[in-house]
Amino acid sequence: MIMENLDWKNLGFAYRELPYRYEAVYKDGAWSKGGLVTESTVTISEASSALHYGQQCFEGMKAYRTKDDHIQLFRPDMNAKRLNLSSGRLLMPAIDEEMFIDAVKQVVLANEAYVGPYGSGATLYIRPFLFGCGPNIGIGPSPEYIFRVFAMPVGAYYAKGLAPSNYLVTYDYDRVAGLGTGKFKVGGNYASSLLPLKEAKEKGFADVVYLDPTTHTKIEEVGAANFFAITKNNEFITPESPSILDSITRKSLMAIAEQRLGLKVLETDIYIDHLDDIVEAGACGTAAVISPIGALQIKDKEHIFYSKEEVGPITKKLYDELVGIQFGDVQPIEENWIVQVK
Ligand SMILES: *Cc1c(COP(=O)(O)O)cnc(C)c1O
Repeated sequence: MIMENLDWKNLGFAYRELPYRYEAVYKDGAWSKGGLVTESTVTISEASSALHYGQQCFEGMKAYRTKDDHIQLFRPDMNAKRLNLSSGRLLMPAIDEEMFIDAVKQVVLANEAYVGPYGSGATLYIRPFLFGCGPNIGIGPSPEYIFRVFAMPVGAYYAKGLAPSNYLVTYDYDRVAGLGTGKFKVGGNYASSLLPLKEAKEKGFADVVYLDPTTHTKIEEVGAANFFAITKNNEFITPESPSILDSITRKSLMAIAEQRLGLKVLETDIYIDHLDDIVEAGACGTAAVISPIGALQIKDKEHIFYSKEEVGPITKKLYDELVGIQFGDVQPIEENWIVQVK
C-alpha cells in the first residue's frame, strides 16, 4: 500500500512523525532485545552525556520503491560499519551489523506506506542514531545508551532535474581539527557547521567549502557532503584526507566512474589554487545524491567549473547510473549493494 494524499513531488526534506520507529536500550553491558515502538519522543536523564558532552552519532540512508513494487536498501552494511566506527570513537557500544540491518528493515516495513511511489523520486529517509542517556555528569562514557531508528518520506532533492549550486570557500572556519572527529558521523561536527552555513546562505551561497584544517590549501568537504571532480584527462578525483567523512555515495560513484564510465579514479590532494584541470565538480551524499557545483567563490574570485546553469555530462551520467541502481533499474556494481526489504 502507498499512502494517498501525500504530495510526493514536493515533500522536501522535513521531519514527519510516522507511526513506527525502532528502539533498543543498552544497560548493564548488553543491548536489550530491540523492537518497534510508537512513541516519537524520548525521555532521558537531564545528566545525559549526549546532552552535555555530545556523546552521540548517527547515520543517514534511504529505502527505495522499485518499478515492480519491491522495496530495497542501498549498501546498508556500509552504514552499519560506519555507525560502529563513529560509536567506537566516542566510547559507545557497538551494534551488530545484523541487528542494525534488522532494525532498519523493521522500520521500513512498518512504515511501508510512506516509501514513495516508483517514478516520483520520493524515498523513505532513514535516520539510525545512538546516544549516551546517562546519568553521568562527570566526564566519562555514559553507563546507558539508546539506539533508535526513525524514518520520514522525502522528495527528490532536485524535483526539476539536477541544477548547479554555488559555494563559498571559507577561510574563517574549519569543519573539524586535522586529527579530530571529521571521519566520524557525530553531531558535534554539525553543531559547529551551523554558523558557517548560515553566513554562506546570507551571502547567497548554498553552503561553504571547507579546506583542509592544517594547511588551508586543499579542498576537503562541501558543507556536509564530499567533493569530487572530473578532470580534462578523464579522471574522477576526490580528496584524500584523514578528516573527511567517508561517504558511501562517494565510494559508490568511484566504483561507477571506474567500472561503468571508464574513468581513472584517484583519491588525491586537490589544491584550491590549481583547479584549471577540472571540467566538472560536484558534492555527493545520501540526501541529494549529487549536487553539481556551478562555481566556487575563492576570496574575491569566482571559479566556474562546467557552468552555473547546467549540469555537466559526466556528472549527469554518474547521477543517472547511481540513482538507477538505487531504484532497481540498473544492475548494481556488486550484488550485495542492494538489500531487499520486501
Ligand atoms: C553523511 C555525510 C556525508 C555523506 O555520506 P553518505 O554516506 O554518502 O551519505 C558527507 N560528509 C559528511 C560530513 C557527512 O556527515
